[in-house]
Amino acid sequence: MQRVFSGIQPSGELHIGNYLGAVRNWVALHSEYECIFCVVDLHAITQPYEPKELAPRTLEMAVGLLAAGLDPERCTLFVQSHVPEHAELAWALSTVAPLGDLERMTQFKDKAAREETVPAALLNYPVLQAADILLYLAEKVPVGEDQLQHLELAREIARRWNARFGTALFPEPQPVLSKARRIVGLDGNAKMSKSLGNTIGVLESPEAIWEKLRPAMTDPARKTRRDPGTPEICNIYALHQHFSTPDEVEHVAQMCRTAGWGCLDCKRLLADNMIAALAPMRERAADLKAHPERVRGVLGRGAEHCRRLAGATMARVREAMGLAPRSA
Ligand code: ATP
Ligand code: MG
Repeated sequence: MQRVFSGIQPSGELHIGNYLGAVRNWVALHSEYECIFCVVDLHAITQPYEPKELAPRTLEMAVGLLAAGLDPERCTLFVQSHVPEHAELAWALSTVAPLGDLERMTQFKDKAAREETVPAALLNYPVLQAADILLYLAEKVPVGEDQLQHLELAREIARRWNARFGTALFPEPQPVLSKARRIVGLDGNAKMSKSLGNTIGVLESPEAIWEKLRPAMTDPARKTRRDPGTPEICNIYALHQHFSTPDEVEHVAQMCRTAGWGCLDCKRLLADNMIAALAPMRERAADLKAHPERVRGVLGRGAEHCRRLAGATMARVREAMGLAPRSA
């Protein structure tokens, strides 16, 4: 059975972009593949963060993923820093990762532009990501569109390492994209991102969802209720495609073009449908939050399983790279 690996940072709340772009696919792949999913806390510390908040956020992200449908009986879920081999392999891979490629990464340039001092870890982020995937010799990686560039680099790193050390140990991991490969944030402009604060969380209350949708950006041509709009350029219309029925989507488009509805009417329908779609996840999350020991149990078993797999890969990596064997 082919192996799937993917990860998510505990850098904020699990949002509908993460869910529609990646996590929904994680759930869909359970039956066909051996799936390993990871809360990547070592990636999250490449951005400014509050140490006291990291562990609770890591647990919350695990709750969110389980609530979103990951089944711990049929997949492995763990925390990246609980398997130290991720950092060890990242170092080994950084010996073949081209600096020029790392500097060209869009995510690096975007995130670096927001920092006064750019940490080296932000530059090396894609090397650690390559290590996450290659450590488990994973062949498929379900991600959103923003990660395609990093995955291309992971393939390049795998090829270079295999060529340099004369073994075909690492497969070249391929992306698996969903239909919603890039969800735009509430600003109507940038990718929905935890670190940009333009998100709707999958576990948010109905009131919070409405409070966020109400002021969200729409077609700027609709300055007043009577101005007709162009649904195709409106992010609210884009979101309807993922939460509303085809009939509703058609109706929304018609009401926008003819100014039959104001933007708030359109947003109200979206909010109602979104709230209904997310309700089962909120319920499951409430149940899991009441039993944190269950979540810790899942993560503990996951890490144990992954340490075994990671140990086996690292033994082969050390040998191929000529590192002196450890004495017993
Ligand atoms: P950060 O802003 O801290 O980078 P993020 O919101 O981009 O956070 P990640 O943890 O980096 O979330 O990504 C987790 C997964 O969600 C990845 O597979 C990524 O491609 C996917 N993803 C993130 N944002 C979107 C989006 N707006 N649309 C579709 N997929 C997305
Ligand atoms: Mg991201």
